[in-house]
This record gives sequence, structure tokens and C-alpha cells, in this order.
Amino acid sequence: MPTTRPRRASAGRDRRFAVVDPATGEAFDEAPDQHPDTLDALVERAHTAWRSWRADRAARTTALLAAADAVEAAGAALAPLLTREQGKPLAESSAEVARTAARLRYYAELDQGAQPITDGRPVRSEVRWRSLGPVAAIVPWNFPLQLASAKFAPALAAGNTVILKPSPYTPLATRLLGDVVARALPEGVLTIVTGHEPLGARLAAHPGIRHVTFTGSAPTGRAVAAGAAASLARVTLELGGNDAAVLLEDVDVERIADRLFWAAFRNCGQVCMAVKRVYAPARLYSQVVEALAHRARTAVVGPGLDPATHLGPLNNAAQLSRVERCTAQALAAGARAAAGGRRPGLPGYFFAPTVLADVPPDSPVVTEEQFGPVLPVLPYDSVDDAVEAANATRYALGGSVWSADPERAEAVAERLECGTAWINHHAELSLAQPFAGTKESGVGVAGGPWGLRGNLRPFVVHRLEET
Ligand code: NAD
Repeated sequence: MPTTRPRRASAGRDRRFAVVDPATGEAFDEAPDQHPDTLDALVERAHTAWRSWRADRAARTTALLAAADAVEAAGAALAPLLTREQGKPLAESSAEVARTAARLRYYAELDQGAQPITDGRPVRSEVRWRSLGPVAAIVPWNFPLQLASAKFAPALAAGNTVILKPSPYTPLATRLLGDVVARALPEGVLTIVTGHEPLGARLAAHPGIRHVTFTGSAPTGRAVAAGAAASLARVTLELGGNDAAVLLEDVDVERIADRLFWAAFRNCGQVCMAVKRVYAPARLYSQVVEALAHRARTAVVGPGLDPATHLGPLNNAAQLSRVERCTAQALAAGARAAAGGRRPGLPGYFFAPTVLADVPPDSPVVTEEQFGPVLPVLPYDSVDDAVEAANATRYALGGSVWSADPERAEAVAERLECGTAWINHHAELSLAQPFAGTKESGVGVAGGPWGLRGNLRPFVVHRLEET
């Protein structure tokens, strides 16, 4: 069995760790394993850079637009490196690079002007938005570049400086992205640090950091929030999800099956807002299971660098074990694998796309976030039952309702406890919309103007007008 976490390749102050290609399970490169003590000087440098970076919005716009162009120009190097360490098909890596550049452009040009407040009294108040200081950004391995830019683009546009730590499973493309972006910015404005814990914990708890913005699992999110409590830095947490797709009985199964399937299986199911449970009316149950199972059986599984591949490997051995474990638990409890259910005969961290029928509703594959290419399909008798089951989770990130009648679907979607409810699709986001979970899916808001505001503080000038 391959290692469950990246190995340290050498000891001493200049340590490095191995980076594994999930399509082979073999190490193919190394990254610096930075000592947490190095953070003091980097945070100090970020603080110094902040003093001038925050002062000139027009200069920031110019620099961030140049950074976006540079990211696009570096796509031919970034995308294959991302696929090599993350596993996703090359076309998805290229789309991730494009989205990274688009997000830089979006925030470079987003207005953050002052807001006058009037209440009829002879005073003039104005809210002028101010930056916070050095921001710590910590991201996971499923969308390394896209999530990195979701942190640093609004933080930098707001006038903050950023220290960003990628997952040790995917440090390389982020380091390259950091080099490309940082070349367009003044020194110390964006810094990438890589390494094992306690590097992230020390970064989150560093007294010089004024905002900790974290994406990852709920348990780590709790640790990050506890660490940041020491300095009372602002905390934004984007955590896990267990999104349900509720199909209504008028749905045209064949018409929606491709969209539904890929909303669950894209990036090998390693998407926080992927469809992780499907609720189908009892009358359509067999048809829905078979439509999804057919697509799972015919999807091409292979290395992400092979242009024929639809589904790459899972990112790491620990994730593969988790997916294998929760699938085995469901099968042992009486579920049936309508497709997949096991590892295919390939090296690396592959798992066959799996559709599970007849799953006990209390199976961990239903109640927890499986974060892999495994989809349980559950029957329901009444829409009320389906809504209750969809909401019976400690997560509340997204959800969707699928129907031939979008008005009716929207009325059902209104009853879902989540941050985003989709109708007849799932996991689609515009750069301009807010993205926020509730319950254990997160704290704070990312995306659109809300993401910018999350990196700013209101500064009010309250002036008495002589009468
Ligand atoms: P994780 O919580 O294990 O790790 C996330 C990051 O935190 C990594 O960079 C990791 O090195 C770092 N880290 C680990 N321990 C830390 C500590 N004590 N202090 C500070 N940092 C620490 O998550 P993961 O397994 O890398 O990612 C998968 C999870 O991310 C899933 O739960 C998924 O739903 C979630 N996710 C959420 C969103 C969202 O926007 N809501 C997006 C993508 C992924």
C-alpha cells in the first residue's frame, strides 16, 4: 500500500518532502518542508509590504491584471503540473488555471468605493473600506489553484498582503502559481509557504496575522479557529458538505442523467459542493439507479494526463482508504453496488466510479462526506420525506432539486437548508455570487463583493454639518 502522507525526503533545516503522482503512487518531485519558525520573518515582511500595497487601489488593479495575464500565459506549465500532483484530467486543470486568472481579473476591477449614510440629521457619515493587514490563507488539495486564488485575489485587491499555505499533497503548482503572480507584485505582497504540520497551525495562530481564511475539513477548521482566537484575528472557514440532489417525480431521467452524474463525479467526487446523495421518488428509483450506473460503468478511468480520461485517481492514499472504508461499510450493511464498488486493477489511487443502491440511510456513505467517486441513491415516498432527509445532516453547503417544472422545483429548493440551492443543475458558481455554508459547512462568506468585504473593515467618518 502506498504511503498515506507525503514522506519527508531529508532531515535538517533545509528539509524537503516528496510529492507523489496519484496516478502511479510514486514520488516524482519534492517541495520545501519549511520550518514554522521561518514564519516570523515572512509575516514581518508581509506587514512591511502592506504599508504601501494598501495605499493605492489603482496600482493594485494594474498589478493584479498583469498577474492575471501572467497566469494565463503560464497555463501550459501550470495545468500539467497540477494534473501530475492532483490527479484530475488535464482539461479540468486547464479550466482551473483559466478560472484562477478570471478571478484575479474580477477582483482587480471590483469597486470598493465609499458609502454615504444619511438619516435626515445634519450629519454626514461615510463608510470607507480599509484593509486588515497580513492574511493567512490555508487551502486543501482538491482545487489547489482555484481555491488559492479564491483566497488571495480578494485579499490582495482589498489591500492586504497574503501568506498562503497549500496542502502538502499539492504544493508544486501552487508554488509555480505563486512565482508567476508574485513577479507582477511588489516584494512580500504574496508569499507561498509549504510544509507539514505544525506549519499551518502556527500560521493560523501567528500574532501578526489579521485574517485567517481557511478551506478544508470541519475538524481542521475548528483547530484553525481555536488557533486564531489567541490573536482575535478574523476567521473565515469554508468547510465540508454533504449536498443532496432531490429528484421530483416529473423529472425526465435520461435528460438530466449526464448533468447529475458529473455533478457527483467531477474531480473524482472530491468537490466540497458535489452531489453526495441522490433522493429519487420510489416510482423512478430503478431507472435513476440504472441511468447513473450506466454512466459510471462507461466513464473512462485513467491517468489525468491521458486525453481519453474522464475520471482520474483520488488524490492521496488516505483519501482512497476513506472511500474504500465507507463503501465496504455500506456493502456490509446490505447496499448493492449497481456500478463499481472496488478498486480497478490500476496502480495509484484509483477507485471505480460507484453507484450504491438499497443503502441503509444511516450508513456513513450517506451521513458523512465521502469525498470520492461513490454515490448513494435513496428512494423516497413523499417530497416532505425527501426534504427532511436532505436536511438531516450537520453540513449545509449546497443542494439541488430536479424537475420538469422549474417553478415547482424552486418551491421545494426554498425548503433546503443550505447556502446555494440549484435547480436542474448543481455545483455551478459565478464569480459574482456569494458562496457560504451554514451549520458545520462554514463561517463567513466568499465570492463576489462579499468575498472582498470579508477582507475589509468599515472605517466611518462621521461629520457634523453646520446648520
Ligand atoms: P484538511 O482540513 O485536512 O486540510 C486543509 C488544509 O489545512 C491543508 O493545507 C492542511 O495541510 C492544513 N492543515 C492541516 N492541519 C492543520 C492545522 N492543525 N492547522 C492549520 N492547518 C492545517 O482538508 P483536506 O483533506 O485537505 O480537504 C478536504 C476537505 O476540504 C473536505 O472536507 C472538503 O469538503 C473541504 N473543502 C471545502 C470547500 C469549501 O469551499 N467549502 C472547498 C474545497 C474543499
